[in-house]
Amino acid sequence: MAIKPTRRTRLADAAMGTAPPKEKQALVGADSVWALSNKDPRWLLKLLDDELERGQQLWEKPRRYFRGSGSGEPCSRALTLEAMGHRVPFEARVLRIFRVGNSIEDVIVKNMAGAGVLESTQDEVKFFGDPPLLGHVDCVVKRPGTGERVLGEIKSIKQELFKALPKEHGPVIAGESPLTKGYYLKYLKQWNTYAWSPTIDIEIGFLLFEAKNEHQQKIYWLLRDPDMLESVLEIRRDAAPYVEGDPMRVAPIPAGFDPNDMSRGNACGWCERRYLCKKLPKGGATYDEARAADAKLRG
Ligand code: SF4
Repeated sequence: MAIKPTRRTRLADAAMGTAPPKEKQALVGADSVWALSNKDPRWLLKLLDDELERGQQLWEKPRRYFRGSGSGEPCSRALTLEAMGHRVPFEARVLRIFRVGNSIEDVIVKNMAGAGVLESTQDEVKFFGDPPLLGHVDCVVKRPGTGERVLGEIKSIKQELFKALPKEHGPVIAGESPLTKGYYLKYLKQWNTYAWSPTIDIEIGFLLFEAKNEHQQKIYWLLRDPDMLESVLEIRRDAAPYVEGDPMRVAPIPAGFDPNDMSRGNACGWCERRYLCKKLPKGGATYDEARAADAKLRG
C-alpha cells in the first residue's frame, strides 16, 4: 500500500496523481502575474531597481566639513560641491555593487571579531578644524599576544582591479607603496588620513583587498606618511573657507584644472560634477546659484 507523502514534491504529486493542471484559469487573467510575466519577465527586477534608485537625492543637506573617505579627491571645487550636498545618482546596478561591497566588508570585520583580533570598528576620524574633516575607520585590530594596535581599511574591488594589484608587501611608508600608482592611491590617502587623525593616532596598519567575484584577498602593510597627509590637508584647507563661510560657496576652479578637458586620466576627465562645474563661474558661486544652475540642467 502506498504511504501518502507528508511533503509535496513533483515526484510525490506524480505518484499520487495530484499534479496541478498546467494552466489554472484564475492565474491567466489579463491583469494576472501570469500575463504580466509573459509580457515582461523583468517586471519584478525593474520594480526593485526603481526602489533602489528612488532613494537617492540630487541634493542632500549641506555639511560644514569634508569626508575622510573622500581623502583621494584632488579638487577643492569638487570638495565644496560635495560638502554642499550635490549628489550624482547611481544606476541600480552600481548600487547593487556597492551593496555587495559593504556586505563583504562587514563579513570580514565579523571574521576579525570571531578570530579575537578586533579591538573596535567604526571609530570616529576627526580633525578639529583646519580643515574640518570627519570619517569612520573600518577596524582597529589588536595583535594577539602583544596587544599592538593596527589600523585597517578593507576594500572590496572588481576582479579586474584585483588582478592588477601589485605584489603584497610588509610595512612601507604609505607614499612609497606600489599602490600609489593609479587607482589605489585614493585608498592609501584615506588610510593615511585616518591613521593621523588625533582621535585614531596609529602608526601602522594595512589595506586589505578582496575581489568581488572570486574572493581572493591581498594585504598591504603601511606606515603613516606625513607628506601624504599634508598633500591631502592642504587641498582641504584651501576649500574650507568656502564650506565654513556664510553663504557656502563653490570654490574657484583650481590652477591646472580644466572642466572642458574630457580626457581620462586627469581629475576633470573622471569628475562626475563636470557637467555642473562647467556651467558655474570659474571664480566660484554661492550655494543658491549652484542649486539654480543645477535645477536648469537636471530639473
Ligand atoms: S570638473 Fe574639474 S575643476 Fe570642476 S569640480 Fe570636477 S575636478 Fe574640479
